[in-house]
Amino acid sequence: MDFAAKIRLIKDFPRPGINFRDITTLLQDREAFPKAVDAMAGLCRGIEVDLIACPESRGFILGAPLAYAMGKGLVLFRKPGKLPGKTLQYCYQLEYGSDALEVHQDAILPGQKVLLVDDVLATGGTMAAAVELVKQSGGQVAGILFLMELLGLGGRDKLGNHPVLTLIKCD
Ligand code: IMP
Repeated sequence: MDFAAKIRLIKDFPRPGINFRDITTLLQDREAFPKAVDAMAGLCRGIEVDLIACPESRGFILGAPLAYAMGKGLVLFRKPGKLPGKTLQYCYQLEYGSDALEVHQDAILPGQKVLLVDDVLATGGTMAAAVELVKQSGGQVAGILFLMELLGLGGRDKLGNHPVLTLIKCD
């Protein structure tokens, strides 16, 4: 299936000059969404995984069905103040200002192999923060999986030597 064709380009969102890739058109397609999840699971064949972890919020949309399809547990990386238990936190810089992700401190056990999942790899800042949280937890990054990679923004370069797998690549 041509998954790239299922994703809509919206110009000048959220700011003038930005070409936003809108994945809602793929999600609302009852054939494309499950096929994309299956294809993403297929990309991870051969990688040993104990847990799947995903950043808020669109990471959850793909992380949850992948955890189900692969028979793994799901760990949520959330914005500050959302998780009820004790958390670890990692702050990171955005183009304007900063942001942070948190994870329950007992969610990832030392040595567990974690597959990180998100919808889009752009500059890589969000996923680099998720990598740091896995490390703070004592886990190992088994791989990093995206529905779509925006080439030319250098996102991959922020993700170290971990295997980075992407279903769709676009300019
Ligand atoms: P990064 O941190 O710059 O790699 O941005 C990745 C995060 O921003 C992901 O969690 C995406 O959900 C979101 N994002 C960035 N660009 C796009 C886009 O064009 N379409 C959809 N989401 C995007």
